[in-house]
Amino acid sequence: MTIADLKPGQHARVSEVGGKGALRQHFLDMGVIPGASLMMVKPAPLGDPLELRIHGYELTLRLADAAKITVVPAEDAPAEENAEKRSKESAHPGLGEEGKFHPKGTGDPLPDGEILTFALVGNQNSGKTTLFNQLTGASQHVGNFPGVTVDRKDGVIRGEPNTLITDLPGIYSMSPYSSEELVSRDFVLNEKPCAIINIVDATNIERNLYLTMQLLEMGRPMVVALNMMDEVTGNGGSIDINEMESMLGVPVVPISASKNQGVDELVRHAVHIARYQEKPLRQDFCGADDQGGAVHRCIHATVHLIEDHADRAGIPVRFAASKLIEGDSQLLTLLDLDQNESEMLEHIALQLENERGLDRCAAMADMRFSFIEKVCSRCVTKPRESKEHLRSQQLDRFLTGKYTAIPIFIAIMALVFFLTFAVIGAWLQEVLAAGIGWITGVVDAALASAHVNSALHGLIIKGVFEGVGSVLSFLPIIVTLFLFLSLLEDSGYIARVAFFMDKLLRRIGLSGRSIVPMLIGFGCTVPAVMSTRTLPSERDRKMTILLTPFMSCTAKLPIYAFFVSAFFPAFGWVVMTGLYLLGILLGILVALLFKNTLFRGEAVPFVMELPNYRLPSPRNVLQLLWEKAKDFLQRAFSVILIATIVVWFLKSFDLHFNFVFDSQTSILALISGWLAPLLKPIGLGDWRICTSLISGFMAKESVVSVMGVLFQTTGLSSILTPLSAASMLVFSLLYTPCVAAIAAIRRELGRGWAAGVVLWQCSIAWIAAFLVRVIGLLLGLG
Ligand code: GDP
Ligand code: MG
Repeated sequence: MTIADLKPGQHARVSEVGGKGALRQHFLDMGVIPGASLMMVKPAPLGDPLELRIHGYELTLRLADAAKITVVPAEDAPAEENAEKRSKESAHPGLGEEGKFHPKGTGDPLPDGEILTFALVGNQNSGKTTLFNQLTGASQHVGNFPGVTVDRKDGVIRGEPNTLITDLPGIYSMSPYSSEELVSRDFVLNEKPCAIINIVDATNIERNLYLTMQLLEMGRPMVVALNMMDEVTGNGGSIDINEMESMLGVPVVPISASKNQGVDELVRHAVHIARYQEKPLRQDFCGADDQGGAVHRCIHATVHLIEDHADRAGIPVRFAASKLIEGDSQLLTLLDLDQNESEMLEHIALQLENERGLDRCAAMADMRFSFIEKVCSRCVTKPRESKEHLRSQQLDRFLTGKYTAIPIFIAIMALVFFLTFAVIGAWLQEVLAAGIGWITGVVDAALASAHVNSALHGLIIKGVFEGVGSVLSFLPIIVTLFLFLSLLEDSGYIARVAFFMDKLLRRIGLSGRSIVPMLIGFGCTVPAVMSTRTLPSERDRKMTILLTPFMSCTAKLPIYAFFVSAFFPAFGWVVMTGLYLLGILLGILVALLFKNTLFRGEAVPFVMELPNYRLPSPRNVLQLLWEKAKDFLQRAFSVILIATIVVWFLKSFDLHFNFVFDSQTSILALISGWLAPLLKPIGLGDWRICTSLISGFMAKESVVSVMGVLFQTTGLSSILTPLSAASMLVFSLLYTPCVAAIAAIRRELGRGWAAGVVLWQCSIAWIAAFLVRVIGLLLGLG
């Protein structure tokens, strides 16, 4: 019997984990190991993937993968022997300060001026972003994006000027399963931070400690931050911190990042161990007589075998040994073993498999989880059933229910867009636009009374104020959309969307996780492209990146609004919605095309955690909104402003730098004239339209501001028919993403792909706009 055969609510015990390679390692790392008990929660609304409960958390798995895992059905949930421990609760007296875990407290600290570097490592959804924001306040160097924390963010810890903490991507283990895991692992190995702050979700402690154990093997000074303690204690659970410290050999500090409890103590410990370079007291978690001691002997034999190689390569030997036994090919090359040694290694591992009756990877995972079990049974009093988990289950009855999931998702997205564009964002936008209009009026009058040169006057009013102003007024809408997207992401809902959309997305060759970048793409393509790093396969990542430009980003809104109000004022909503849907539809078609040509093959497995629903902390949300707003303002006052002025300059002077009164003879007309024939077939042959489209490559918003400059005298409607306006809308929807997005794509996929995207999107846009025109003409709408 396999997991795929279990009925909802049925319990079982894993007997064998099939599959191979990185995927299998990932199963093991997520706790699906022989002997683990699990419960089938339910299949996704479309029948695939499945939701399981294992080690106290929810995991998703596709049917095809579930069929590789053999289980023995069990009658009931395994009994928890917690009852008598429940009363035994001990305070945390701050052992660290008393010196127990600071044996070198008076030893030789790092020199005073030295910057103490920290790496913040933890599982996804363990509260890393929340803690990072608490620790650094406003002093961060790189913006975080909604979606998963993907980029490296650095910041100085508040009140500790000589520190630098780096937020690493959320990971589950140190095996290189996804590029994020590789990033984190390389960071710890190569950059050698002075200390690691390992954040552990205390409500999900078994799975979280798995990463802790691998971090301990790296031998860097480390402190464990037990986060979400408010939920643990709030539900009647408790954790014997002192016992845990002595078992793990590193300081453990209970905190609640969102309530800012315990964070100061955490900082004190972290700074202390970093300054005095206090390594973990213990790395050896394999008992000499656990299960006959086979794993123990295997690891220690390997350690001795590779000691010199690890030293030379600068890799912690214990870590290297564990990873070698697990067959990590990257480390194998780094260590540069000779053939004899490699063979010896193989023999040692074979001996392990023979004695243990498990393959080497499963045996290693089992060793780690057995130790974790020991820690938990001694230190952790589990809450009976947490309120948060109950609440999540109740919500999931609807939010991932068989008949309700997809309708609710559509309703939520519709509500988000409605609130953004019609209610909150729109209202704020009007307020802002009125303010800008007022200022413009004042400046206009002042310029007129000062008899400023009329051309300059035109630049300042039409170009700078109205152009940049009209772009600026979109700030509220953009910020509101990001607010909703980040609320959805941080609350844990997007993970559910990935869960029930997986089957649909697989039809077009993607996996459920691709939904995250896609949704973010409606906000901005740049963070969308970056968030694809959470996708574990290169193929999925590439494909998702190539599809994000089809999700209409907020920067295109000003263009839509401008043309809609000029040409289709009565059908605003229809046109806007139509554009969004057209983008999605074309994205699907292109995905199908890719699936059958460039990217044949299966989408990657879908092994993902479904975290409990949690209310995002206002602080995180505000910080994110501020970053978005700042980013937008910077763009408005740099790229867009400059584009506007440059365009004004080029259209006001001819090649001899004489001021021209008819911009038909200007430099700009000359340049754009070259391009105009290309766009003529789609009805956009006017040089001014070409210019604004070119400037849109800098930033989509500037299309509008540039038009403001160029169409001062002649009205737009004398140049475009409603049909060519429709072509223009479709063309703007699809043509090349802006420079920032292309730069992000280049960072992820390289120069060739980035250039490819520009050409590809322009071609698609041209074809689509051409079709619009042809169909329109056939229908007699010219
Ligand atoms: P990350 O994925 O590791 O960056 O996790 P986040 O910082 O985004 O946190 C995930 C969720 O847990 C958010 O909704 C937070 O508001 C919530 N959270 C973080 N820390 C705590 C905590 O100490 N207690 C509780 N109850 N919730 C928390
Ligand atoms: Mg985060």
